[in-house]
Amino acid sequence: MALYADIIIDISLEKLDRTFQYLVPEELEQDIGIGMPIEVPFGKGSRRITGYVVNLTTEPSFDPAKIKPIFNIKTDGIPIEAELISLAAWMRKNYGGTMNQALKTVLPIKRKENEKQKQTIALALEPQAARTLFLEKNRKNSVARERLLEALIEQGELPKEIITKKLGVSTAVIHALEEQGIVKTISKRDYRNPVAHLKKSGNVTVLNAAQQNVVDTVWEQMKNHQPKTYLLHGVTGSGKTEVYMELIARTVAQGKQAIVLIPEIALTYQTVMRFYNRFGERVSILNSRLSLGERFDQYQRAKNGEIDVMIGPRSALFTPFSNLGIMIIDEEHETSYKSETVPRYHAREVAAKRAELCGATLVLGSATPSLESYYKAKKGEYTLLELTERVQNRPLPVCHVIDLRDELKQGNRSILSVKLQELMEERLHKGEQMMLFLNRRGLAGFVSCRACGNVIKCPHCDVSLSQHQGGRLICHYCGYETEQPKVCPVCGSKYIGGFKAGTQKIEEIVKKRFPEARTIRMDMDTTRTKDGYEKILSAFSNREADILIGTQMIVKGHDFPNVTLVGVLAADMSLYIHDYHSAERTFQLLTQAAGRAGRGSEPGEVVIQTYTPEHYSIEAAKEQDYRMFYEQEIRYRDLLNYPPVWNLLVILISSREEENATKAAEQIEKKIAQMQLKTVAVIGPTEPAVAKINDIYRKVLYLKCGNYDTLVEIKDSLEQYLEKEPFGNGIGIQFDFNPVHG
Ligand code: ADP
Ligand code: ZN
Ligand code: ZN
Repeated sequence: MALYADIIIDISLEKLDRTFQYLVPEELEQDIGIGMPIEVPFGKGSRRITGYVVNLTTEPSFDPAKIKPIFNIKTDGIPIEAELISLAAWMRKNYGGTMNQALKTVLPIKRKENEKQKQTIALALEPQAARTLFLEKNRKNSVARERLLEALIEQGELPKEIITKKLGVSTAVIHALEEQGIVKTISKRDYRNPVAHLKKSGNVTVLNAAQQNVVDTVWEQMKNHQPKTYLLHGVTGSGKTEVYMELIARTVAQGKQAIVLIPEIALTYQTVMRFYNRFGERVSILNSRLSLGERFDQYQRAKNGEIDVMIGPRSALFTPFSNLGIMIIDEEHETSYKSETVPRYHAREVAAKRAELCGATLVLGSATPSLESYYKAKKGEYTLLELTERVQNRPLPVCHVIDLRDELKQGNRSILSVKLQELMEERLHKGEQMMLFLNRRGLAGFVSCRACGNVIKCPHCDVSLSQHQGGRLICHYCGYETEQPKVCPVCGSKYIGGFKAGTQKIEEIVKKRFPEARTIRMDMDTTRTKDGYEKILSAFSNREADILIGTQMIVKGHDFPNVTLVGVLAADMSLYIHDYHSAERTFQLLTQAAGRAGRGSEPGEVVIQTYTPEHYSIEAAKEQDYRMFYEQEIRYRDLLNYPPVWNLLVILISSREEENATKAAEQIEKKIAQMQLKTVAVIGPTEPAVAKINDIYRKVLYLKCGNYDTLVEIKDSLEQYLEKEPFGNGIGIQFDFNPVHG
C-alpha cells in the first residue's frame, strides 16, 4: 500500500492551515517520520523546496496519479522546527485535537506586523580601497564625508542613528557616499528586547552545602550525558532559585541553552532581576504583557542564538533553542501549567517529552510538589532531591491553628481571632509587616453551617454539593441531587447558607480594629490595571504599608524579608470545592502562605483560622510536613480511583442547545460501552462544575482507568468515530486528561 505524507511548507501562522500531499517513495518509507524536514517539488516549475511532514497516511486525498513523490529526507542538521513538530505530533496524539491546533501551540506565531528595521551603515570596500576611491571622488574640504569615512574605517559599521545623532553627519552625506559606492546600507530586523533597560550586577551567591549537593548530583549526570528528570522538593526559602541559576550557568558555559518556567503571577520584576543580575543580556522573558510581535521577537532571538536563557510561563516551553541543555519548572504544582484550551496539555509532561527528544535535563521544583510528581518520584520515574532547611539557618515559621468554632463560643464574632489580633498588635508595635490571606478558592457554591462548620456533602462521593439555581444542590461527580436544607442536618442551626466574604470587607474590619495601621489590598479589583500588581508589590516591599490583604495572589513565591506574620483567615474554604484536588490545593496554599513569613532576619509566625483543625491538610500544613500530607492523600486517591494512582479522562461535550449536548453525550457513552472495556469505569453523562458558560451548555463523561494508554486509545477511536459520524453543527467535543480542576 502506498504511503502519503501531508506536509507544511511554511511555518508562519497563515500557512499552517494548508497542507500538501506527496507520495513517499518506497525506499524512504522506513525512514520517514512526523516532523522530518524533506525536499519536494513545488509549484509550476517544480521548484525544489523544504517542507515538514505533519502526517502520514495510506489514504490519498486526491487522484493518486497526480500526487508527486518526495525527493528526499533532509539529514544535514535537523532544524529546531523538526523537533517542535515532532513534539506537536506527540501532543496531538496524547491530548486530542487537530494537528493544526497542536502546531499553532508549539510553533512561534509569526505575524505580518510592521517589523522595525534597524539600518546600519558599513564600508562597501576594504578600508584601503575605500580611502583611495574617496580621495578620487571628493573635494578636499568634505569634512562631514571624511568624518563618516574615518569612523567607519575604525568601527567597521555603525547604526544609522548613531551617525546622524552622535557624529552629526546628515542623511544626505550618507547617500552621497553610497552613490559613490564607498558605503552601503544594511537593513537588519530590530528585535525588541524586554530586559534592555536593566543593569547587570554580576553578584553570585555562594551556595551552602545542601544546595551544592543538589547541584553536584544533577551536574554529575549532565556532564556524563545522562539527562534525567528531577523533582527538587525544597521548603520555602531553601534557595531553590539559586540552585537553578547555578545549573543554568554551567549549562550555558557548555554552549547550551536553558528554559525556566515560572507561573505568570510569580514572574515579577524581582524574579526577573535575579536572573538578569546573573546572566545579563543573554536572558529574555515572555509574559502576557508583551505584544504578540514582541513575543515573536523573543522566539526569533532564541533561534538566532542571541540569548541563552528564556524565562516565562507555560508557552516559554516552546522556545526554539537548537541546543537545549536544561529545562526548569519552578512551582511545578501550579495549575497554570495546564492548558485549558485544546490541546489541553500539561507543561510538565510536554517538557519531559521535549527533554527526551533533545537529550535535555528537566528539573521540577516546589515546596509543595504536586501529588503526580511526588508519586512519580516515589516510583523512581523522577529522581528526588531535597532541601529540608531554609538558607542561613533561618527557622521555618511557628504555626498556630485557631478553631473558629471556639472563637464563636467565646463570644468573638470577628473574622480576626483573638490570637491573630494579639499578634497583629505586637507587629504594628515593632514596625514589622504582615500579610492577611483570604482563601477564596472555591468560594462560590458550597453550603455550610455557620454554627458548627458542617458542609453539605454528597452521600456517595465525599465532595461538597454545589448550589444550583432553584435551591438545588448537585454532586458534580455522580449527579446526585437534593433540595437545599433549611436547617443544618448536624446541629439543627438555621444559620446555613453559601459562605461569602471579600477582601474589601476584611480591609474595613482591619481598619476599624487598627485605625493606625496602613493597609494595602491586592485582589482582582486592585490589580486590574496593567501595572497594578507590580505597583502593590513594590509599595509593600518599600514598606509603604504594614498589612497586605489579599487572595491567593499574595502567596505565590514573593520574598518580603520584613514580613514576620501571616494570617490565613478561613483556611477551609478551598476544602469544600467539588474537586478531588481540594485537600491538595488547601495544603499547598497554606504551606505557601506560611512560607511568606520569616524570610528575613526575624523569625516568622503563622495563624491559620479554620473550622476543621483536625483535617489532615491543615494538620500537615501546621507541621509543614509534606510527607505526612502525601501519605494520607495518596491513600484517598487510590481508594477512590483518582489520579495520580489512576488516570482520568474527561470528555467535555458542549452545545448551545442543551438537548443536543445531552444526546451527543449519551451517544458517546453508548459508543464507549460498545468497546467493552473491562478496565475502564465510565461515570456520567452529568453536568460539570460550571454547567453553562455564555449560554453554551456543557455535559461531561468521566473515564477512570489504571492505564493511561488505554484512555489514549479510547480517545483515538472516539476521534475517528466523530470524524465519520459528526453530530452536526454546534457540538463541541474536547478531551481533558487528568484535569487540574474538577
Ligand atoms: P526558594 O526559591 O527556595 O524560595 P530562594 O532561592 O528564593 O529560595 O532563596 C531565598 C532567599 O535566600 C533569597 O533572598 C536568596 O537570595 C537567599 N539565598 C539563597 N541561597 C543563599 C545562600 N546560599 N546564601 C545566602 N543567601 C541565600
Ligand atoms: Zn456524588
Ligand atoms: Zn450545624
